[in-house]
Amino acid sequence: MKIILIGVQGSGKSTQGNLLSKKLSVPYVSMGSIFRDIASKDSSLGREIKNTMNEGFLIPDEKTIEVLRDYLSSPEYSSGYILDGFPRTVVQAKAFESGIDRAVYLELSDEIALKRISERSEKRDDETPGAIKKRIDSFHKFTEPVLHHLEDKGILIRVDGEQSVEKIHQHIIKELGIA
Ligand code: AMP
Repeated sequence: MKIILIGVQGSGKSTQGNLLSKKLSVPYVSMGSIFRDIASKDSSLGREIKNTMNEGFLIPDEKTIEVLRDYLSSPEYSSGYILDGFPRTVVQAKAFESGIDRAVYLELSDEIALKRISERSEKRDDETPGAIKKRIDSFHKFTEPVLHHLEDKGILIRVDGEQSVEKIHQHIIKELGIA
């Protein structure tokens, strides 16, 4: 099964993604981690991606789609995956239609998301207040239209992201029919 997870930063995508990965025995893939890995390399692409991430902007669609396609071409992903952080734009969603069976949206208010991120003990380089604000703005501007697109296709599951980790997990597996 190919499942994607959508939600603002702090909505619990990686926690739920890892739980689902165990439950379904398919790998968990984080687009942000793939980019952080590229950004750690001393290459012109690495520097470009690092700058874009640290400013809180999205990586251009074309590059994002190319990097992900290349990454998922490895045989370990052929029977499915849990994808966190992609698609974040309608262009990405349309380019990747066959790579999505169901989409899970972890709904969370901006206020709670900001509170959760500020309470994290380990901060990443791209978690400055300015970058976090820009990322939340990008979510409303570019990713909310993706939700409407997925809803129209009938594959979107909406989950209240303010519940406990366990309750959210139970809700998701029930909706996916794997409880
Ligand atoms: P994340 O770990 O999901 O918060 O992603 C960290 C950063 O990676 C984002 O702020 C973007 O700069 C970049 N990124 C991750 N996923 C995407 C995507 N689907 N499209 C464009 N940029 C992305």
